[in-house]
Amino acid sequence: MDDCLFCKILKGEIPSEKIYEDDKVYAFKDIAPMAKYHFLFIPKEHGQNINDVSDFNTIFEAIKKVVAEYNFTDDGYRVVTNVNKFGGQTVFHTHFHLLAGEQLTGFGR
Ligand code: AMP
Ligand code: ZN
Repeated sequence: MDDCLFCKILKGEIPSEKIYEDDKVYAFKDIAPMAKYHFLFIPKEHGQNINDVSDFNTIFEAIKKVVAEYNFTDDGYRVVTNVNKFGGQTVFHTHFHLLAGEQLTGFGR
């Protein structure tokens, strides 16, 4: 989509720090990290959010690969996806946040 920030990142029109890539998924560092490690995983095919997703396996396989590569497995991590207004979504291209590397707070904890 022409007017989509993450599509522009995929096209290389906006720079990003790549973490992972395969034929269907791209992952890069969040520009405003909310944890020591904060990566975004996006499908290469544009969709607005997970309301448009039918195949969740591909993106979660990619997340798990990065989790293993960065040794987040045992200490733990958090995966978040925000949807529309109540979810606080600000970029309308499906993405999953991977947060790790320190104790995470929120969700009443
Ligand atoms: P959300 O609020 O769930 O829609 O998440 C959008 C995320 O995109 C936020 O965490 C932003 O910090 C991040 N973001 C916005 N612009 C960029 C960019 N140019 N490069 C990397 N991350 C970005
Ligand atoms: Zn897009």
